[in-house]
Amino acid sequence: NITVVGSTNIDLVYLVPHIVAAGETLHSTKHELFFGGKGANQAVTAGQLGAMVHFIGNVGADDFGEQIKQNLQDKGVNIAAVQNVGITGQAIIQLADSGENSIILFPGANFLVTPEQIEQHAERIVSSEVLLLQLEIPMSAVETAANIASKNGVPIILNPAPAQQISDSLLSKISILTPNETELAILTGMKTETEEELFQACSSLLQKGVGAVVVTLGAKGAYYMNHFEHGYVQANKVVAKDTTGAGDAFNGALAVGLCQRSSIKDSILYASKLSAYVVTQMGAQPAIPSSFRVKS
Ligand code: ADP
Repeated sequence: NITVVGSTNIDLVYLVPHIVAAGETLHSTKHELFFGGKGANQAVTAGQLGAMVHFIGNVGADDFGEQIKQNLQDKGVNIAAVQNVGITGQAIIQLADSGENSIILFPGANFLVTPEQIEQHAERIVSSEVLLLQLEIPMSAVETAANIASKNGVPIILNPAPAQQISDSLLSKISILTPNETELAILTGMKTETEEELFQACSSLLQKGVGAVVVTLGAKGAYYMNHFEHGYVQANKVVAKDTTGAGDAFNGALAVGLCQRSSIKDSILYASKLSAYVVTQMGAQPAIPSSFRVKS
């Protein structure tokens, strides 16, 4: 079983003829609501793949909060450790006819996740086979979860998104770090374009005690390194329609692969296959067909 400690959001998308200018009032032609937040997206992916998943985090004490909890539950995620507090996190997205977008992110309840709250659910983390983390909640809460897992020998996958610096102490506890190219560059302060640059950047993280690094490279696939091997895993060739949530699907599936005791390489292959499917579908949480499930 997998525990995800992370964020939940409601994504409010407004189609507009152009991005609204300062002082302008603009009519939106269409409105859509999606469930989001990196933590929730990753948990839902794992849940839909048939894994036992528990989510620790916050939703608002409002209607959106209830809708998010219902959605998590519908997608196979246990919400016993989800708390209602403050206002639900929101992404207010303008999507222009040109394809350009602009986003206001209101973290709301996600920024109210506390170390004490994580401590209350320590038992849940300790009894997991994998702990899956991202960086959309306060770093102090992420660190608390990582400390509990690492003291008890629970492997940790950290998706270091959105991009930011991470302390050496946290890095040393991570079993698998899953940055994209930009996040890897920010974490290491190194270039990450060529194979040689990826090799050097990943090596610097292994030297800090990270167990393995899996760099996601969009349509180029993934590059991975642990103390025994390194190399590319090609992406499946697909016609991408919407790449939102590709990284989240990848991380959710990677956690499921590891829970099944697959090797890191086989888990990456599984995650690549699933995320290539997800980019052919609209939205960050598309319904995942049963053919991808690990058990029925
Ligand atoms: P993020 O959304 O975090 O930036 P990426 O864009 O690197 O993550 O995508 C994560 C994974 O999704 C990639 O490693 C790859 O396996 C898959 N993927 C993303 N875009 C495509 C694409 N256009 N075609 C096939 N697979 C893709």
